[in-house]
Amino acid sequence: MIDFKQLAQAYEQDMVQDLKDLISFPSLTDESSISKDAPFGQPLKETLDWFLKRCSEYGFDVDNVDGYAGVASYGKQSTALGMLGHLDVVPVGEGWSKDPFKAVIENGVMFGRGTGDDKGPTVAALYAMRILKDLNLPLKHQLQLIVGLDEETGMRCMDYFTKHRPSPDFGFVPDAYFPLIYGEKGIANLLLTSQHSTIIESFHAGERPNIVIGKANFKVKVKHHQEAFEWYQKAHRLSMDVNVISDSLVEYTAYGDYTHASTPHKGINAAYHAFNFVGSVYHDQLASEAASLLADVMGKSLNIAFDGVHMGWLSTNCGIVNVSENKCELTIDIRYPNDVSIDWITQRVNERLSQTSFTSKVIAHKGPHFVDPSSELVQTLHRVYKEYSGDDFTPPLTMGGGTYARTMPNFVAYGMKFITKPQLPHVGDAHQKDEGIEIEDLVLATAIYAKALYELAYEDA
Ligand SMILES: [Zn+2]
Repeated sequence: MIDFKQLAQAYEQDMVQDLKDLISFPSLTDESSISKDAPFGQPLKETLDWFLKRCSEYGFDVDNVDGYAGVASYGKQSTALGMLGHLDVVPVGEGWSKDPFKAVIENGVMFGRGTGDDKGPTVAALYAMRILKDLNLPLKHQLQLIVGLDEETGMRCMDYFTKHRPSPDFGFVPDAYFPLIYGEKGIANLLLTSQHSTIIESFHAGERPNIVIGKANFKVKVKHHQEAFEWYQKAHRLSMDVNVISDSLVEYTAYGDYTHASTPHKGINAAYHAFNFVGSVYHDQLASEAASLLADVMGKSLNIAFDGVHMGWLSTNCGIVNVSENKCELTIDIRYPNDVSIDWITQRVNERLSQTSFTSKVIAHKGPHFVDPSSELVQTLHRVYKEYSGDDFTPPLTMGGGTYARTMPNFVAYGMKFITKPQLPHVGDAHQKDEGIEIEDLVLATAIYAKALYELAYEDA
């Protein structure tokens, strides 16, 4: 029996050095340096060039997919097992205590933008392939590592890839959690519109459908009512600011709590409270209607509550609000389980809206992604995880977020975050400040990936 844990440890130094080099690239989309061979700008082109050069030094065949994505492959078989990672990162943001592009290592933790999402997991996948290549055993399926360059800003890389290259037959995406994610909810964005007189002078909040609105600033054509203002905050355990502009115009700010739209119950939507405040305190019909549509995050107020067998509750989030000149627009992000369909959702929402002044239209949609949890792929990946992590308890999972897995059939997300392991308090998660990973997790994930590739793609595994 091959001990992949021991093998991964033997490659630890190389792996850490490659990840440090990769973290040093500020691989963000740069509109100002876009060109034909750099569709996402120069920094991402340089990152991909470096990555493919390293892969080719390790003896892999490499393919630059017109600057949208890259492939490192091993073997010439007609069927392929793929792994999908990404080299782009989200902007640094504020509050870091370390240089986000220096890959500082302290007490076994490497800090840096991309360490957890998704450069670390991508390097683990690369080393899993490198370990197997160096073992030189008889392959059944070709191995591929595909890296995309625009996962965080629309996944155009994978659109391009799937149009210009054959997709591998099956595989996994090291860009989420262990044990593995075999289902991802469908994602629909609806625009609800109403033309109706209102005392709201202006209200613009939120920038993206997939973020719960954490702060809502709005102007109302009323005389400020201090008692009601205090009552509302107390009753809803919420904080608000007021700026009385005149006897007939007041500016309010409501504070909620930002979070991702796939888990809206973890946040507080400030826009809902803005509408609810204006509706209940000043009896404005449009505001009351909007509040009644946004009142819960499990679809009840939109007539689409549903508890899926595999994927759990349908969830809703209002991510963008625009009110001006008696026109109100609400952008709603809906995450739905695979038991229901987009047609079911639009029909039920429209039934509900027929009692209001609002109409709706679908402005974006991606269907749910589902791989049979009893399939050989899921069973094998789960078995390997259990054996190497010692976690016998956690079953395969589903989630509301979206990974690359949904771009190809027979793909599931697989690590490399160990959800059973508590997050160290000084280490940031994906997209957060002081993003970091424990080196021992990087090595363990590499061992798990190597063993998984071995079991799924080798002749006498
Ligand atoms: Zn990612």
